[in-house]
Amino acid sequence: MSRSDGSTDRDVPADRGSSSPEVAVVGGGAVGVTAAADLAARGADVTLYDRGNLGAESSGRAAGVLYDAYAEDIDAALAARAMDRFRAFDRSLPGFSFTPCPYVIAVREGDPDAEAVPAMVDRMRAHDRDVSLVDPKTLGERFPLRVDDLAVAAVAEGAGWCDPASYVAAMGERARREGVAVETDIAVSLAGDRPELRVGGGGRSGNRREFDAVVVAVGAHTADLLGGAGREVPVVPYRVQALTAEIGGSGSASYDAPMVYDATAGAYVRPHPTGLLAGDGTEPVPADPDDYDPTGDDWFVESVSATLRERLGAVGEGGVSGADGTDALDVERAWAGLCTATPDGDPLVGPIGDPEDRLFVAAGWQGHGFMRAPAIGELVAEGVLASLDGTEAKAPESPWIDAFDPDRFDGDEEFEIAEGMSVESRSRE
Ligand SMILES: Cc1cc2nc3c(=O)[nH]c(=O)nc-3n(C[C@H](O)[C@H](O)[C@H](O)COP(=O)(O)OP(=O)(O)OC[C@H]3O[C@@H](n4cnc5c(N)ncnc54)[C@H](O)[C@@H]3O)c2cc1C
Repeated sequence: MSRSDGSTDRDVPADRGSSSPEVAVVGGGAVGVTAAADLAARGADVTLYDRGNLGAESSGRAAGVLYDAYAEDIDAALAARAMDRFRAFDRSLPGFSFTPCPYVIAVREGDPDAEAVPAMVDRMRAHDRDVSLVDPKTLGERFPLRVDDLAVAAVAEGAGWCDPASYVAAMGERARREGVAVETDIAVSLAGDRPELRVGGGGRSGNRREFDAVVVAVGAHTADLLGGAGREVPVVPYRVQALTAEIGGSGSASYDAPMVYDATAGAYVRPHPTGLLAGDGTEPVPADPDDYDPTGDDWFVESVSATLRERLGAVGEGGVSGADGTDALDVERAWAGLCTATPDGDPLVGPIGDPEDRLFVAAGWQGHGFMRAPAIGELVAEGVLASLDGTEAKAPESPWIDAFDPDRFDGDEEFEIAEGMSVESRSRE
């Protein structure tokens, strides 16, 4: 078994006689830590590796906006399952809390996307999502938002928010309770064709350890890690930004209103314990996961502040623009992190390459990785164990989702990075 200091035996094969399969999960973000806990809960002997701390990368930088407002059937089903689990974890996972909060999608007059909203809402409703089309006047009567420039809006009732870092920490504790060996500050690479890792040491100098299966859940590092083993995947990191701010002047008000995505401005806001959290600032160009700027840009802070003043005029004490005309939005912190894009906007989840390699990947969330992590982690756990059980990896009865097949790309595709929250991305068939 693995040792807590990360030292391992060279070329020790997994114990095939054991009834518990040995599974390595590489990456301790929201996806990896959930998959590790769910695998262990189903009887696997799991080691979770992270090159830093759990949640140190994208999951620790996420906004924690959670919703099920998806128009496509697979997305809606995964989101429904994820939201159910977030609600259950609110009761069962010490240190984690989920705050229910409606989610508004607002589209301004003159935005051609407005025409797509009614059909998008119909499709969400067809998948049993509690989403309604509302005219701006009705929206303004229900919530303290400025609506005079809106063409149309939708409200998703089954949404909410949480603190992503506390999810990862609480799920990490659950993983440990389920028996997962959690190995932090250890970078691993793939060693060869077998489900084998080079653990620590970097490059080719690490100790080798063989498992029955290896799950790669390394977020923005996916293409680099798999590419280092000769498996090219088109999972492209790009930079997005968020900020927290006090409102109403000198910390006097919290944002007590729904989450809002202003689709025309491409910015969102949610309540936050110290005021509000707002974001987007997507840079639709590839970013280097080992060399990007983790601080928020001035242009982002200015543009999101302007959007908030326009949309939330009535929120807080005197609104986000102070009653005396001064700027009452007091930005506490602005930061950037990485999301990952794929050519078709769908993630890569499942076995990659020859099923005998027992190598699995879970990546490419197009900005929706955190909110889907409870469902994806569970899917990965069930899929890996079904594959190891000898269930044909991609047979109809297997839990893997064809649309997410990691082998559907060549790996060298060139494509434009699309912002995942947009009405266009959400409405695609
Ligand atoms: C500003 C911002 C706001 C966001 N808001 C939301 C939101 O509101 N809702 C939402 O759903 N999503 C949101 N996202 C997206 C979300 O953060 C990601 O989709 C999600 O966190 C991805 O989780 P992950 O586990 O796949 O990756 P990560 O959290 O990045 O985890 C990958 C882990 O792998 C580790 N790792 C990498 N290489 C190695 C290696 N060689 N060996 C060992 N470990 C390794 C890293 O240290 C890291 O901890 C946001 C992202 C940002 C940046």
